[in-house]
Amino acid sequence: MSYKNVCFHCRKSYNQGTDLNEIRESKCPECGKLMKQVTHRFRPPKQKDLKKWEVASYLMRNGFLYEHVYKQIYEIKGITVLTNYATYPENMRDAVEFVEKYKGQINLKFK
Ligand SMILES: [Zn+2]
Repeated sequence: MSYKNVCFHCRKSYNQGTDLNEIRESKCPECGKLMKQVTHRFRPPKQKDLKKWEVASYLMRNGFLYEHVYKQIYEIKGITVLTNYATYPENMRDAVEFVEKYKGQINLKFK
């Protein structure tokens, strides 16, 4: 799985390597600030779409790095079953709900 480096200062994302073991912090080639690493599922908003960038930033600050989040998690005979990927929100109201609803899953990162 590949990942992206995102600069919230320039509102740009850069595709990075495919090996998650090689994830490392790197600096934005344009402004030199440290970038945030997220999975390749992050779809960067248009550069001028500040609201959507704010939503993405909010999600990341809350630990959601665009890894899969599941609508349902339950156990059958001791086996954990994950079903239905949740869609990442694009407006702040949905994002607040999303964080509230799924924050228990953020330690399932990068699965
Ligand atoms: Zn930058």
